[in-house]
Amino acid sequence: MPPDSDQPASHTQCHTCSSLADEESAYQKYGWEENDTHLPAAAGRLKVVRDFYPYSSRKLQLQQCPDCGTYYLYRTDYEYLVNGSEDEEFLTRLKPEDATEYLTRPV
Ligand SMILES: [Zn+2]
Repeated sequence: MPPDSDQPASHTQCHTCSSLADEESAYQKYGWEENDTHLPAAAGRLKVVRDFYPYSSRKLQLQQCPDCGTYYLYRTDYEYLVNGSEDEEFLTRLKPEDATEYLTRPV
């Protein structure tokens, strides 16, 4: 349940956010799945608030924790390589003032 806006819960108290570091990253390489890393399962609980490049293979999204309202920046990078394409994902916890900047940015 989201808290009152004038009484934000700290992300450290949140079940979802407490399992996410301030910076998370994951890396997958096609054909080398045994070396792949993935974002923590809690990252999958975040809701997409803004999708800045919906038609691009490189994503930039503002995501929000449904439990405490903490914002995250999610981005992916993609590199085509002859011996196997590489995908990277990054998830960064945003300070409220940084999230405002993305919320007011035109999509
Ligand atoms: Zn949270």
